[in-house]
Amino acid sequence: MKTIFEKIRDKEIPSYMVYEDELVMAFLDISQATKGHTLVVSKEAFADVLETPDEVLSHMFVVAKKIAKALKQSLSPKGFNFLSNVGEVSGQTVFHVHLHVLPRYDSNDVTLAFLPNTQDKNFESLLTRIQAVLF
Ligand code: AMP
Repeated sequence: MKTIFEKIRDKEIPSYMVYEDELVMAFLDISQATKGHTLVVSKEAFADVLETPDEVLSHMFVVAKKIAKALKQSLSPKGFNFLSNVGEVSGQTVFHVHLHVLPRYDSNDVTLAFLPNTQDKNFESLLTRIQAVLF
């Protein structure tokens, strides 16, 4: 079954397409969490960042930068978030890799708070466990 973004790619459902090339497309997010909120999406349907080949992923970020520069010039936001959710727990709802380009106009217009973790902060043990599987 096609993902909703494949249907957009194949023009089976409408979108506000900002940019397209062989590997990626960028269209306005239907929710417009902030004005100009855009999704950069791979043309091929990989489930998430971890499943996406490096060349596609790196190109997604290059295109996100291009889009952000255009948004900056056209809409004058004060900053941006670049965000990609992986897994339901993180808020992923469409399982087809995408990068949110979120223009920011105000420090309160998006809420994703990094709450300080007061427990389980054993940096040495964390480092050992992560580096054991990194290479
Ligand atoms: P995520 O929750 O990170 O998986 O993001 C999925 C995003 O896709 C949400 O921000 C939705 O608003 C957006 N979305 C879902 N359907 C459409 C659509 N048909 N056109 C544009 N954006 C969509």
